[in-house]
Amino acid sequence: KFVEILTIPFIDSNMDEFMNGMIYPRLMNQEKTFVVTANPEIVEYANEHQDYKDIIISADYITPDGVGIIMASKWLNQPLQERITGFDLMNELFRVADEKALKVYLLGAEESVIEAAALKVKELYPGLELVGYNHGYIDIKDDTLPKSIAELEPDIILTALGFPRQEKWVSRHYALFNKGLFMGVGGSFDVLAG
Ligand code: UDP
Repeated sequence: KFVEILTIPFIDSNMDEFMNGMIYPRLMNQEKTFVVTANPEIVEYANEHQDYKDIIISADYITPDGVGIIMASKWLNQPLQERITGFDLMNELFRVADEKALKVYLLGAEESVIEAAALKVKELYPGLELVGYNHGYIDIKDDTLPKSIAELEPDIILTALGFPRQEKWVSRHYALFNKGLFMGVGGSFDVLAG
């Protein structure tokens, strides 16, 4: 079920149904998946930049990240059930990865932040396998790093490069990977690092 807001199709679901009914089976089947958690800024930017909009629309799931999106859906008389934020989804993914010993790669934020975030993830979710991480001050067009990440065969790749960079990175390098759930998480590593 979808609700279109400014021509962007948002998934009408809740965290429980989204994780258990859609994301979990795809992770278990190693089905490549691109998730965008779109806030009003992303929607606005996408409507001004067609190349970015094409990337967003190419995602398997676009979730409403922010009350502004929920409010817009109400004005359209097609109320979305609830917000599914990048930060919450990231933590749900870590939880599943912890349970199922999945391989996780973290890309983004400043060097000191990603180091602290990586430590925190290992401490909170000892069952997941953190196969690597890298800071986010990179040339997103260079495919040296993405190729080396693909060789690690991660199940979950989180990009915290800020939008639109994080979604552009995913779109540009997606074909290098045979499996993996990809999602941009904005400033979530900074929150995680504390
Ligand atoms: N960031 C990065 N590379 C960049 C620009 C930003 O890794 O070239 C990181 C930044 O350190 C922060 C995250 O991206 O951890 C989110 O940045 P910002 O708050 O600007 O993005 P937003 O939350 O608006 O998507």
